[in-house]
Amino acid sequence: MKIEQADRLKAVPRYLFAEIDRMKAEVAAKGIDIISLGIGDPDLPTPSNIIERLSQAAHDPRNHQYPSYEGMPAFRKTIADWYAKRFQVGLDPDREVVSLIGSKEGIAHTPLAFVNPGDVVLCPDPGYPVYSISTLFAGGEAYPMPLLEKNGFLPDLGSIPGQIRKKAKLMFLNYPNNPTSAVAPKGFFEDVVAFARDNQILVCHDAAYTEIYFDENDPPRSFLQTQGGSEVGIEFGSLSKPYNMTGWRIGWATGNTEAIAALGKIKTNIDSGIFQAVQEAGIEALTGDQSPLSNLREIYRARRDMACSTFSRLGFTFQVPKAAFYLWVKTPGDQSSAQFAARILNETGVVLTPGTGFGKYGEGFFRVSLTIGEDRLSEALSRIEAAG
Ligand SMILES: *Cc1c(COP(=O)(O)O)cnc(C)c1O
Repeated sequence: MKIEQADRLKAVPRYLFAEIDRMKAEVAAKGIDIISLGIGDPDLPTPSNIIERLSQAAHDPRNHQYPSYEGMPAFRKTIADWYAKRFQVGLDPDREVVSLIGSKEGIAHTPLAFVNPGDVVLCPDPGYPVYSISTLFAGGEAYPMPLLEKNGFLPDLGSIPGQIRKKAKLMFLNYPNNPTSAVAPKGFFEDVVAFARDNQILVCHDAAYTEIYFDENDPPRSFLQTQGGSEVGIEFGSLSKPYNMTGWRIGWATGNTEAIAALGKIKTNIDSGIFQAVQEAGIEALTGDQSPLSNLREIYRARRDMACSTFSRLGFTFQVPKAAFYLWVKTPGDQSSAQFAARILNETGVVLTPGTGFGKYGEGFFRVSLTIGEDRLSEALSRIEAAG
């Protein structure tokens, strides 16, 4: 029997990371030791208080049944309390918070709730690929909003044409940003709210990196802190990055009541919530000892400083990130990002992500992920330095 894929699946562009994996295997087969600065998955363990809480909760038979679709009331209240404390935003845990099996799950299901065939979704480019692919799965059309260096890696809302605005239903944003590490400056979210109101577009802000920052006096903002933010938007949060919990699959969406209800309706028809023991561990993450998070910021800061000092000594151009754990660096000369990354991999065994893995406007850049210990990072940097 011939197994035929659906058109929507055939339309998915080739995953760039699959190509990198192939090249990695080739280089490794030559006996070269591979160091990956390619993947944004924290290397450090989940803090032990969180693991303890999971382990206790896993023994409780009350946690062994189907969880509630929208998340345990105690988990949703924890999110609301955390928003009040961290962002001074008041949320109704019953109507304005829904749990997610990781924020990627919620992001991927959002277009199914709001996009009809032919509708447009505004997606940052470079950006997290899930925004445009989930748009495609819902039959929508992703319209790239270029994140250019000259605009501080913010989309230029004024340049979005009128016919596109008319057809647009959603706008995805992500600050602190993956892959550029840019932070949204004061005033930007206000402009977004005005744009969303004028054009009746639901803003979907991916806030996965708000807790990974290096300036204690100016931590990244929530979109919902903006006047009108919860009227025009929703925000995705995640425990993955701040608590090294990428494998645990826990996150949330907050904001506009009707939009949260619509996303919840999709989810009740697709999944059955998050294992309650994981939700209890999530409560511990946000309410327990926060010193592991402060330590984590210091670790990323040290790695950032180490990588920045090497890349600047080698004459590369980039901005020192104020948040997130990526360096977004210009490729030297007139090589394409893919050529440069391939050359570095072949010559040194170090994996970098070419900017075009995040969209065509990523051309001319590569991303360095700081999710690797200082020893290996330093080894990778020395190899790049030796390669010239
Ligand atoms: C890592 C990451 C997430 C988080 O994904 P989870 O599904 O919560 O693990 C979301 N958005 C971006 C841009 C990310 O890099």
